[in-house]
Amino acid sequence: MLPIKKFRKSISEIVFPVCCVCCGVSTNKDGRLICRWCEKDRFEYVSENGNDEIQPETVLGLYSMWYFDKGGYLQQLLHNLKYNYLRNAGIELGSILGRFLINRSDPDSSTIFDYKKPVLIPVPLHKSKLRKRGYNQARALAEGILKVTKWDLADENTVIRVRKTKTQTGLNSAERAKNIQNAFSIKKPGHLQNCQPIIVDDVFTTGATTFELANQIFEETSNRVLIVTVAKA
Ligand SMILES: [Zn+2]
Repeated sequence: MLPIKKFRKSISEIVFPVCCVCCGVSTNKDGRLICRWCEKDRFEYVSENGNDEIQPETVLGLYSMWYFDKGGYLQQLLHNLKYNYLRNAGIELGSILGRFLINRSDPDSSTIFDYKKPVLIPVPLHKSKLRKRGYNQARALAEGILKVTKWDLADENTVIRVRKTKTQTGLNSAERAKNIQNAFSIKKPGHLQNCQPIIVDDVFTTGATTFELANQIFEETSNRVLIVTVAKA
C-alpha cells in the first residue's frame, strides 16, 4: 500500500473504527463486521439438524446454525440486525450461515440442498414494518447465503406478508400459530415450481412463522420446504 493510502486508511480507522457488531472487539485488521471468534467459537453449534419431530409434513428439514443464548451476545446481535439497520452485517452473517450449510458434517443430508435447484425465500415483512425498519434482516441473510452458494433468491414479490401481525414474543405456541395464520400469500407460485424452496429466518423458536409459510408454499406448489435459520431457541 502506498504511504499516502496507508495514512488515509489509518486516519479513517481512527475516525470510523471497524468493530465486531456482536462483541465490539476491533476488527480494523481485516474489516470484518463479525469477528473470527464470534464466527467460529463464541456460540454453540446445533448438534442435530435435519428432521425435527415437531415439524409438519410440509417441511423436509430444519437447519439451524447456533443455539440461541437468551440474554447473550447472539440475542443482542440478532436484535441489532432487526432494529438497527445493520444490513451489511446481516449479509456477512448470512455468508457464515451459508458456509455452515454447505460444510455441515451430517452425511445423510449431504445432497439435500442439491436435490433440486435451491431457491431462498426470506420470511417477508409486512410493508409497514419494512418501511419502519428500512430493510428485511431475513433478506440480508439470504443475500449472504447467495454469496457463498450457487442457489437462487426469490424476488421480493414472490412471497409477501399480507397481514400485519403483532410480535410473537411472549406468546405461547398455540397463540403464535393463531397470530400468524394466513399472514402470507404466494404471489408467484410459478417461480417456486421444480425447485427446492428454502425458507430463511433469523431465529427458529416454535416454528409458528416458518411452518405457516411452509404450509402455504406446499399448498401452492406441492414442494416440501427446507428451513434454515441462524439460531434455534
Ligand atoms: Zn466478535
